[in-house]
Amino acid sequence: VDDYPYGGGAGMVMQPGPIYDAYRALALPEGANVPVIYASPQGEVFSQRIAEEWAAEEEIVFLCGHYEGIDERVLNKIVTREVSLGDYVLTGGELPVMVMIDAVSRLIPGVLNNRDSARDESFSDGLLEYPQYTRPEIWEGERVPEVLLSGHHQKVDEWRREQALLRTAAKRPDLLEKRTFSPAEEEILKKHLRDDPRMC
Ligand code: SAM
Repeated sequence: VDDYPYGGGAGMVMQPGPIYDAYRALALPEGANVPVIYASPQGEVFSQRIAEEWAAEEEIVFLCGHYEGIDERVLNKIVTREVSLGDYVLTGGELPVMVMIDAVSRLIPGVLNNRDSARDESFSDGLLEYPQYTRPEIWEGERVPEVLLSGHHQKVDEWRREQALLRTAAKRPDLLEKRTFSPAEEEILKKHLRDDPRMC
């Protein structure tokens, strides 16, 4: 399935024929517009937004390269989108595709026990998730934040939203640059800007 690159150079290239045969063997229904995703370091970087988009698809075909990659002609013929896991080069497409499949699967109803788990998580609304705590209430002298023990759902929600905003500002300020804020979120940010002007 691989051969030397035309024009010389290191490594081997996957031939177009076996990949096209494998693609045709899938017998995808005519006009079904099934996305054919090539895992490639040259593609757009995978994100929660792409995972959400793919979770709505009935079927997806993933194509994994190896060696120096795949003959360009078959890529041009069947691939609808190139997606990368990040700006680094791996040996093959299998691990990136397994990561993508995991991120997409957990958004499909029934995969997780609790649907809210996926809905509340980091990136789902453009913010990182708030900090999480479990038992015991006091560990190594450190208490769980009082509000989480209060049983007051509205206060817990407000605290979590505030923590999500502050932690995103501290760890991933780039995420906030792309986001618009609700009036309540603007209030939270203003209050903390007054307390700590470094947050600018
Ligand atoms: N010669 C290629 C280049 O420089 O763009 C890299 C080929 S890489 C060694 C072999 C295969 O691993 C690729 O065809 C692709 O399927 C997969 N791969 C490597 N890095 C990847 C990444 N960051 N994201 C997704 N797939 C990747």
